[in-house]
Amino acid sequence: MKKGTWLVGLSVLVFFLLVSGVAGSIRDTAVFYLHVAKLYTQTPDSRLSMPLENVRKEQIADTWQAPRGTSRRHEGQDIFAAKGTPILSATPGYVYNIGENNLGGQTVSVIGKGGRVYYYAHLDAYAPRLKEGDWVTTRTILGYVGTTGNAQGTPPHLHFGVYTSDGAINPLPLLSDRTAPNSAQGTPPRRANQRLVSRKV
Ligand SMILES: [Zn+2]
Repeated sequence: MKKGTWLVGLSVLVFFLLVSGVAGSIRDTAVFYLHVAKLYTQTPDSRLSMPLENVRKEQIADTWQAPRGTSRRHEGQDIFAAKGTPILSATPGYVYNIGENNLGGQTVSVIGKGGRVYYYAHLDAYAPRLKEGDWVTTRTILGYVGTTGNAQGTPPHLHFGVYTSDGAINPLPLLSDRTAPNSAQGTPPRRANQRLVSRKV
């Protein structure tokens, strides 16, 4: 085949990609992976916001590594609440996956700093318009508490899991209660240029 024919073919292909929007989605995918690559370079969040606004940490019964059947252990924590309770992201990050599986039912995964993946399972429904690649904050609703997957027939709850590159870790020690707006006492806003000074006491 002549060189000119190849060039014509390539031009047609590029034109097709541009017109069809495929080039746009390739660009979006590349941008997404760049963002994720940047997250990997950052220190993982040491403090996770409670995914259900009105649940306090002390209300969670620790079931980390509790046996589930004979061959499996619980790789997370179950946070019980009424069906339909909004689930907020525990961290900033990018929506990594929205999908259904046998155990988790309807699930959302968010990738955060350090490449950690936060897994939200048994959702009754996903937040409308939420899509993979979206940037989320701790104010973003991911979905709603339900009983999908192997939670069918149990009281509605959120299964919350945290995965590092070495596997699952217990989310409970990292979780912290969300405080109601204006409830902070004795903590004036800190100016950006104000340094934290450690004082020996
Ligand atoms: Zn669970």
